Amino acid sequence: MPMHAINMTGQKFGLLTVVERFGASPRPKWVCRCRCGQLTIKDGSRLRRGTVKSCGCATRAFISAARLTHGMTGHRLENIRRGMLARCHNPNSKDFPRYGARGIHVCRQWRDTPVEFYDWAWTHGYADALSIDRIDPRDGYSPGNCRWIPLSENVARANRARRQRAA
Ligand SMILES: [Zn+2]
Repeated sequence: MPMHAINMTGQKFGLLTVVERFGASPRPKWVCRCRCGQLTIKDGSRLRRGTVKSCGCATRAFISAARLTHGMTGHRLENIRRGMLARCHNPNSKDFPRYGARGIHVCRQWRDTPVEFYDWAWTHGYADALSIDRIDPRDGYSPGNCRWIPLSENVARANRARRQRAA
């Protein structure tokens, strides 16, 4: 079977899912969606050999926690992680009274090892349009108590909780 006849659409390679063929070069390239939400173009042969497994985010992620944190600076997930840490562990944060002061904490593994948080996010449906939600609002941020939900839903939940507290 000639190379160009291989259809890789829908196949998964690590964090990447093949979306469609890119261009018509003799060495097939494919548009892939990474679990972090990023679109990326990869060589079919490199995908099949297992040389590439993410848009680059996972490669950065697994080098070392320190370099990862650096590599993730400015990434939405890192901003989300910093936001959680500030709300729960920084008394100077404006949201601290509603979180840290009420005993809402970020679990040790997410606090100490950022990669644990990214890894959880990527394997639990993280996407750019979603925000992190605590399933039990009285409990802290941990793999067992968090999920990704649309931002609008999260805001609605927060408003309901505020009304309940006020009542
Ligand atoms: Zn990625």
